[in-house]
Amino acid sequence: MKSIQQSEVRMTSGAMLLGVMGDPIIHTKSPIMHNAALKSLGIEGNYVPLHIKPEGLEKAIQAILTLGFRGVNVTIPHKVEVMNYLDHIDEGAAKVGAVNTIVNNNGVLTGYNTDGIGYVRSLKEEVCPELRGKNIVVLGAGGAARGIIHALTAEQPGQISVVNRTASKAIELAQEWSSLANMQGFSQAEAQAAVHSADILINTTSVGMHPNIGQLPVPEEWVPEGIVVSDLIYNPLMTELLHVSARKGCSTHGGLGMFVNQGAYALEYWTGVAAPVAEMREAVLQSFKL
Ligand code: NAP
Repeated sequence: MKSIQQSEVRMTSGAMLLGVMGDPIIHTKSPIMHNAALKSLGIEGNYVPLHIKPEGLEKAIQAILTLGFRGVNVTIPHKVEVMNYLDHIDEGAAKVGAVNTIVNNNGVLTGYNTDGIGYVRSLKEEVCPELRGKNIVVLGAGGAARGIIHALTAEQPGQISVVNRTASKAIELAQEWSSLANMQGFSQAEAQAAVHSADILINTTSVGMHPNIGQLPVPEEWVPEGIVVSDLIYNPLMTELLHVSARKGCSTHGGLGMFVNQGAYALEYWTGVAAPVAEMREAVLQSFKL
């Protein structure tokens, strides 16, 4: 986790105000996770869900300053658009072209991307310690996909194939980062051969996310037996893709680990202290049992 000096923390009032902006936002587990973390750290504060429509994003970002928020997370569909309204973009987030964490330092807003690093850490810890030389297929080319693909290129994979409903986004992304890794972009219709030869299949689309929990991002018969299958979705914890893949003898990896790790990196930017990762994970798991 990134180390930040306590002296860098600047709060505009006693309590630390944090939140997450998205549309929709009703099913987010971020408030449960971060409020548990604040409590565990003994930091007075609150993390709230903020339902922000795309047309209200610019005003919502200005409101961070007006209301004295220390920072916010941003999620679907704001991760790219929000970059237009910030003072600084961290170098990693600029390369990714998406921001999921904003820090308010005395009225100066800086955007970071903790998705990619959080995801790769979780993938390596939970199912695949060595990514070097692996044939990786990524379904989706949105904000989260860019974050994780960028982080994956640092692991020296053999090949990264990007598949997207809007094929041009996958093809352009593969071209943009062709110097970082051996990359190719595909339309969904062309993707069967790429998926068939995957060592690791990663779903970064929202297909299968609550409430559409029966949906699959690729046909069941495309998933090879015995590979690693990973889904960024964490609600539900086991998506239909992961159920299908487990039945085929695949090692499965859900989005909870990424969710906790991206949140932990974000919390460290806001507070300057190490995040209580185990408590954060437990709070999210408990919330699924309610
Ligand atoms: P995004 O920027 O809106 O991108 C969405 C992606 O999904 C795009 O590639 C889009 O394709 C594709 N897609 C959406 N609906 C589709 C459909 N019906 N059929 C095929 N493709 C479809 O969203 P994001 O921020 O990247 O998030 C994507 C997913 O990752 C969400 O499920 C989110 O919950 C999850 N996520 C998880 C974590 C975590 O911590 N575990 C963190 C971030 C995101 P087009 O380009 O064609 O529209």
